[in-house]
Amino acid sequence: MSTAFDVIVIGEGIAGLSAAGALAKQGYSTASFEQQLFGGLVINVNELDPAPPGGEAGGAAYAAEMTGANAEAGVTSIPEEVTAIAAADGSYSVTTAGGSYRARKVIIASGAKLKTLGVSGEAEFEGRGVSKCADCDGPMFQNETVAVIGGGDSALQEANVLTHYCARVLLIHRGGSFRAQPRFVEQVQGNARIETRFNCTVEAILGDKMVEKIRIRSAAGSEELAVAGVFAYIGLEPNVAFVPADVARDATGRLVTGDQLETALPGVFAIGAVRSGCGGSLDDALADAQRATAAVAAQLM
Ligand code: NAP
Repeated sequence: MSTAFDVIVIGEGIAGLSAAGALAKQGYSTASFEQQLFGGLVINVNELDPAPPGGEAGGAAYAAEMTGANAEAGVTSIPEEVTAIAAADGSYSVTTAGGSYRARKVIIASGAKLKTLGVSGEAEFEGRGVSKCADCDGPMFQNETVAVIGGGDSALQEANVLTHYCARVLLIHRGGSFRAQPRFVEQVQGNARIETRFNCTVEAILGDKMVEKIRIRSAAGSEELAVAGVFAYIGLEPNVAFVPADVARDATGRLVTGDQLETALPGVFAIGAVRSGCGGSLDDALADAQRATAAVAAQLM
């Protein structure tokens, strides 16, 4: 007999933590599942910008605060990877490597992971110059030159973070203008340590034991640039491998929902970065959690 809950929340990023806590506080038996560390994408952000209202400004501290509050509210946190969900007699079964659980409602808050460039050297030099975390690995590049790839909020924000440590940050963008918020563009433009290269793509990451250079291509041809580190922030890929294939996705793989954030499976909701149309900011994740929480509670009444 599998353990049963009113609600299972898949993912302990900010959206999932927020929804799980709110439902537990309303008296619903709630479990949240996480395969890695709680906090999701914000765990690697030292200074949330904008800072959450009334919360900790550091991503890890903010997530830890929510996790502690959830434990007090009675959320059962299960550190297992969800591998499948399936309808079963009017409720849902949620399968992990550790077992099988049941819930009347499911909230998918599994978030997204950073996309990779897919160029040669990227996997080979992971942890040897190729990094996914400016705040964690930046201090290893004191007074060095590093490359940041991308033109969105993440790339520009992290390029700025890296200038706290690095002598020079080469911001390499495939387009001719940034899509990031104007305030991040202004910060980059006003930062003398950041040198922007527009209309360039990365072809390869090169080195011996550690990253030594990248090869980029522009209309003028290809060129090698000496760098000690490479940080690609080229967007996100939703974590949906466990979601049944017949649940509608958009062109980017994110789950399509209706007004109440319910997916094509009745009683299964999607919130945060895994949901098609969610904006991507902390506020967007919290707003999604609030909407889904209200809809789930209304169905459970
Ligand atoms: P994003 O907004 O999807 O931007 C990805 C960037 O990478 C784009 O500039 C894109 O170029 C470029 N790109 C995509 N694929 C590429 C490839 N194969 N090679 C080279 N460049 C490539 O991703 P993001 O910056 O990670 O942001 C994700 C979401 O989180 C967004 O909603 C964002 O607003 C949000 N976010 C918010 C904050 C904040 O509020 N503080 C901070 C970080 C992120 P093109 O522009 O040419 O398409």
